[in-house]
Amino acid sequence: MKTILTGIRANSELTLGNYLGALLPMVRLANEHSSKMNVNIFVPDLHSIISDVDGNLRSNTIRTLKYYLAAGLEINNNVHIYRQSYVPAHSELCWILNCVATMGEMGRMTQYKEKSEGKASCNVGIFDYPVLMAADILLYSAEYIPLGEDQFQHIELARNLAIRFNNRFGDIFVVPESTVQQIKFMGVEQGIRIRDLLNPDKKMSKSTKAENSKIMLDDTPEKATKKIMSATTDSLGKVRFDMWAQPGISNLLVIESLVTNTPLADVTARWAGETRYGDLKKQVAASVSVMLADFQEKLAGISDEVVLKLLDEGEAYANKVANVKLLEVQKAFGLR
Ligand code: ATP
Ligand code: MG
Repeated sequence: MKTILTGIRANSELTLGNYLGALLPMVRLANEHSSKMNVNIFVPDLHSIISDVDGNLRSNTIRTLKYYLAAGLEINNNVHIYRQSYVPAHSELCWILNCVATMGEMGRMTQYKEKSEGKASCNVGIFDYPVLMAADILLYSAEYIPLGEDQFQHIELARNLAIRFNNRFGDIFVVPESTVQQIKFMGVEQGIRIRDLLNPDKKMSKSTKAENSKIMLDDTPEKATKKIMSATTDSLGKVRFDMWAQPGISNLLVIESLVTNTPLADVTARWAGETRYGDLKKQVAASVSVMLADFQEKLAGISDEVVLKLLDEGEAYANKVANVKLLEVQKAFGLR
């Protein structure tokens, strides 16, 4: 049986962008395939600690997993939920793959360059985490890893490490599918990219300081409405979908489309030629408010116990699968 693997960091509260661009598409993919594929959903808590964490990682992890359930993830025997740090084989394989990866290829990672830029010093984890990510993938022979476009280079690295290892030791790792195949599998022509409400030339990011730039999943409908009503638009006075000339308005149309699950063309047609931006904002605010209220109600109905039970089962499964692969690797290197 083939395996899909996906994860989302639990460092802080998620934005509407994370929800519409990552969480919801992952949940849809999982539900679509879990009758005939393994779906591994894990929280990469060891990846979290390359950034500052506030001591709430464990509870944030539980909350993030509740998000998947609140977003509609259906559980069956093929769906496995686990925390990375509860499966020690990830760290072990990471070390072994460190001895396969080269400084040159690691130094070319764009995420590393971006995250370390302008800093006098950065931790080694920021440099090395793509290798840990390769271990996350290769331990479970995962072929499909639905991720944001910013992570494609890391999938290529995992492929390269697997191929290099296999060339030396025989067919031990399943090589993940290429980026082209990953995109096809995700069924998207291009990634979803929700824009910053105040500065729509940029994407909405949870780490952006300005409160009004982003809608958080725990915002009350009133708070979200205020933020949408104060979103930056333009002075053209015409509702049109044109991300380049009217990014603010186009972003609102995209949000309306995704939140109400209506094709963008229909939403755009409905608003074509309207001149009062306030009306569009009111509509989007109402739709987002309904979505948030619904999501938060579902979330409140999911207990810690439900998640902890899923983690117990998922972590037992993950340790079993990962340890088998790790032993093969250890034997190849002559460690066992
Ligand atoms: P940070 O500011 O810390 O980088 P972020 O909001 O960019 O936070 P990430 O943790 O980097 O979030 O990404 C989590 C997932 O959400 C990734 O799959 C990423 O592609 C997706 N994502 C992030 N921002 C957006 C956005 N504005 N629109 C759509 N998807 C997004
Ligand atoms: Mg990001």
